[in-house]
Amino acid sequence: MQAKLIDGKEIAAQIYTELQMRLAALSAKGIIPHLSVVLVGDDPASQVYVRTKQKTCEKYGLGSETLRLPAETPEKQVLDLLDKLNKNPQVHGILVQLPLPKGISTQRVIEQILPEKDVDGFHPINRGRLVAGQDCFLPCTPAGMQQLLARYGYSPENKHVVVVGRSLIVGLPFAIMMVLKKEHANATVTICHTGTKNLADHTRSADILVAASGRPNTITADMVREGVVVIDVGVNRVEDPSAERGYRLIGDVDFAGVSQKAAAITPVPGGVGPMTIAMLLMNTVRAAENSLT
Ligand code: NAP
Repeated sequence: MQAKLIDGKEIAAQIYTELQMRLAALSAKGIIPHLSVVLVGDDPASQVYVRTKQKTCEKYGLGSETLRLPAETPEKQVLDLLDKLNKNPQVHGILVQLPLPKGISTQRVIEQILPEKDVDGFHPINRGRLVAGQDCFLPCTPAGMQQLLARYGYSPENKHVVVVGRSLIVGLPFAIMMVLKKEHANATVTICHTGTKNLADHTRSADILVAASGRPNTITADMVREGVVVIDVGVNRVEDPSAERGYRLIGDVDFAGVSQKAAAITPVPGGVGPMTIAMLLMNTVRAAENSLT
């Protein structure tokens, strides 16, 4: 079997088309959703992510700004900036690019953002509401993964979903979303991590397998059953002298091997990545809509 490709670019494009109607309705009321991105320091990967977020906002008609602070900025100054953005009615969404430089508490910074402007869905209020199954800003990557499954018709309902990785931004929230008694969810869920014994025993029983370990080849063909649906979240740089940039990006899954057995699989790049940004824009539009009520 050769797996069907789950195309994140195509689904993201669908989402942008849907957002245009909501943007037009907001525009008729004089509102342009605005995302403020705060970048502290000069981490090269963060620079790329922030640029992509800003460019995508501009492309689809959202307002966006990137506020850059040097790495040695005191935490108090970051908190004060967030306070100003919280109070600015023109700003609908606030995102602080992670990781933060040493000496700045990620927890204090995230908690400083008003939950109703927390379009990354990282504030404890949004995390708590997610666990309780209440309305909230869903974290963008897990929300994008759920959309991919839903829009390709791979329902998690009554299925066994195995998630490899328990980070607070990907693995754990996705696992929680899948176990909720809701549409596009209601699965039986197993969460695996570095403390898991015999990882393959778990992954082989998955109907839907999520790899979010941040390690290439965490999942190989012998670790999956025929017909599994695979969501590969990993983004890993590997040296490749034949590539223009000297490296290429691969996921956490051995794509060549696993795609011989899987029913469907996300590619890296072009799978989960484009969905993360699409969900960020969707959350920002929603924050702007909520600001009217
Ligand atoms: P992370 O914080 O490093 O978490 C990795 C998780 O995987 C941890 O829970 C870790 O277990 C577990 N793990 C690592 N190696 C394992 C192994 N061999 N067997 C079982 N579990 C293992 O990473 P993250 O932030 O969740 O990101 C995961 C990957 O997704 C990264 O490659 C990242 O770049 C990518 N990512 C992509 C997007 C996107 O938009 N495409 C967004 C976010 C992240 P412990 O908890 O025991 O350490």
